[in-house]
Amino acid sequence: MFIDQLTSLNGEFLLPWSSITSRIFTQHNVTSITPIWFKTLQNIVLFNPSSGSLQLKSQFIFRSNNFKGMLLQLPPMNTRSKSFVVTWNYNSNTLMIGRIIDRNNNNLHIEHWVPNQTLSLIHQPVIQRCSGCLCNTESLSCSTWSPLNDTIFIVTSKKNQKVSEGLYRLPSPLFEYQQQIIHHMNFSRQIMPYYFKQQKFWHFEDNLIKRYIEKGSLQNQLLHYQNIFESSTNLEFYTDGSLIDPAMNTMSMGFALIQSSSAAPYIEFAARIERWPSSYRAELAAILVALIISPMNSTITIFTDSKSSIDHFFYLQQQQLPLSPRNLFKEDSNNYLWTIIMDIIEINSIIVKFFKIQSHSGNHYNDLIRS
Ligand SMILES: [Zn+2]
Repeated sequence: MFIDQLTSLNGEFLLPWSSITSRIFTQHNVTSITPIWFKTLQNIVLFNPSSGSLQLKSQFIFRSNNFKGMLLQLPPMNTRSKSFVVTWNYNSNTLMIGRIIDRNNNNLHIEHWVPNQTLSLIHQPVIQRCSGCLCNTESLSCSTWSPLNDTIFIVTSKKNQKVSEGLYRLPSPLFEYQQQIIHHMNFSRQIMPYYFKQQKFWHFEDNLIKRYIEKGSLQNQLLHYQNIFESSTNLEFYTDGSLIDPAMNTMSMGFALIQSSSAAPYIEFAARIERWPSSYRAELAAILVALIISPMNSTITIFTDSKSSIDHFFYLQQQQLPLSPRNLFKEDSNNYLWTIIMDIIEINSIIVKFFKIQSHSGNHYNDLIRS
């Protein structure tokens, strides 16, 4: 294998393992688990491997003039299925991901779908219907007609793609679709390459705190702690989540954590979140916060009295990463938090160890959470 077999069509990004295994030159030897050599390679060739970005260092970027073994398919015309497709929208002059809602001769009526900013992972974007933008040319917002030859069929395994009502997960990163359609248009229409310029009209924050925590005092506090632990490699957190006023409409959730390893600065931190309906999730929020303020490549020990959290973590860890929606979304509403937790662990290459402690064993962090 050569590096250019593992990169996006324009050569600027390393592909996630799941996308590589869908290319034709690997089909005789497909493995779904990311091999160790690939993880090592990521550390060598990526511009900033710990950020979760798949952008390559400039010395590893090679431009290609072929499709790198990728099979691009036109959408099937003879079915009524509402397939997802990628097309080029001339109104907005951008890529447009959408769903076929009607067919007429060699034209497709495509409903526009856009990335959901909070549920999307870099490897697996989650999309939802666009409520209206420049792409729209029809009375039905937001949609347009596009020639069949200007569209590429998004191949998904039906089972895994639906996250919940109105939310679907795509199997490849958005930059991959963008480059597929740009290459497809260039090849099919012999349009000069500079006509389409690479655009960043979506943006996923590299710092996971900025990506997952709403702007405000909580985000500021977490950024502050992230800064404090920047050079630590081993941290120990005691976490606790407690439900406050569960019977009232104004129910709120408090959680606390303490960093107790002597190898790193000591901190105590407690926060309260409004409208937070289960004590189990409060514990998860504490774990999430502990991980999100931890530095990349660190080893984190978490002491918790929540056996259910520990059990579920080990269950998820046995699944392959990145987690498929099937693993994550079939069970309960805590899965959104678990998605983020597993995303933080994977993107930041964190090693996590859990220790079960007696509930409310009388040390002072219980007082902290109640205060
Ligand atoms: Zn739109």
